Amino acid sequence: MFVDQATITVRGGNGGNGMVAFRREKYVPKGGPAGGDGGAGGDVVLVVSADCRTLSNFRYQKLYVGENGQPGRSKNQHGAVGSHRRIAVPCGTLVYEGDKVFADLVTLGQELVVAKGGRGGRGNARFATAVNPAPHIVEKGEPGEERSLRLELKLVADVGLIGYPNAGKSTLLAALSSAKPKIGNYQFTTLAPQLGVVEGPDGESFVLADMPGLIEGAHQGTGLGHQFLRHISRAKLLVHVVDVADLTGDPYECLRNVQEELTLYDPALQDRVQLVVANKIDLASTETIEKFKEKLKKNVQVIAVSALLRQGLKPLVYTICNLLANVEPIQDMQETEEVLYSVRKEQDEPKLTVQNGVYVVESKRLHRLVRMTDFTHYENQVRFAVKLKRMGVEGRLRANGAKNGDTVRIGSFEFQLQ
Ligand code: GDP
Ligand code: MG
Repeated sequence: MFVDQATITVRGGNGGNGMVAFRREKYVPKGGPAGGDGGAGGDVVLVVSADCRTLSNFRYQKLYVGENGQPGRSKNQHGAVGSHRRIAVPCGTLVYEGDKVFADLVTLGQELVVAKGGRGGRGNARFATAVNPAPHIVEKGEPGEERSLRLELKLVADVGLIGYPNAGKSTLLAALSSAKPKIGNYQFTTLAPQLGVVEGPDGESFVLADMPGLIEGAHQGTGLGHQFLRHISRAKLLVHVVDVADLTGDPYECLRNVQEELTLYDPALQDRVQLVVANKIDLASTETIEKFKEKLKKNVQVIAVSALLRQGLKPLVYTICNLLANVEPIQDMQETEEVLYSVRKEQDEPKLTVQNGVYVVESKRLHRLVRMTDFTHYENQVRFAVKLKRMGVEGRLRANGAKNGDTVRIGSFEFQLQ
């Protein structure tokens, strides 16, 4: 199946935990705290790559995770930083989070951090003060960011080949470029759009895309046609491939049908520059070809070729290059000017509810604090309690009727108010 949309989950690596350690060396009494910081987790980064043409890889792999940072070590040694996870995406990929456009990736080499790795937890060496010179306080590593993204690819092709199944689009693309799409004598041979780079006579080149099987009713979303039609939106020139072989139906009628489909899908496409290729002239009588040309003469240019026998291809490429040279780039209305590289800090007012006598606090920031606190040591528990107080959480709990001995739950952590 052809894929031009994919949903993936990206997660930055977790920061490494901070370390509790003390300096123990001969002749150095009371060496002091020496636990190092954990390393930061790696980011997940999208990279626009020319080697990547479709989103089909994302069908099999849905989860992308940055490497975790290493924990801090004794003697003030910091943990190693986790490496970034880089994911190649094709040029023209739109990245969505929910309905919000995250970024429009249109430049080769462009990079976008989509999930930041967590920072490393601080080791106990960082918490030494004059009052508490030998603290057991540490932080665990911060969890990496996680989000669900929808990727959408609109092909950035200059020229789109359209026409009925079996008209010879794949054959033509293969003949014109180095791309080798699958070819067969049945409908819907082409299940993925194929791109090819075609070299013009003067060293110029253009990207040609085979827009697969356009069937009647495609604009209503029946069949595969609709998915593919979306890709036509950005092509500067549309090339109709029409089978003029004597045994096939009336080529003029075929062309009309396809044009009608296009208009129904998007009326704006009517104004797109179009060119007609009369294909399979090896199977057509001169009379048929002439009649077809005659009918179309006033409206649109016709080039007669045999994709199979590679006849008439040079004039075709030449004509396409000439047309392209005079066409303005298509302004896509959905193109977003603003590219969002950084994730905004969301408002995070703790929410308080009472469930079965338990006070439940919902807050991303507090959940993170719980994840980063090592409750096994008393000093960390104290630090956590002080933070709750400072953030006004304890006050709010008491204002809502919580008393000493009542149970409070934050994320996975429960404790008694005291
Ligand atoms: P698509 O569905 O439009 O991509 O059509 P294909 O490129 O898969 O071609 C369908 C069939 O038509 C294949 O069997 C091709 O070999 C054949 N074909 C394509 N172009 C020509 C041509 O110029 N002459 C002849 N005789 N057959 C052709
Ligand atoms: Mg095909």
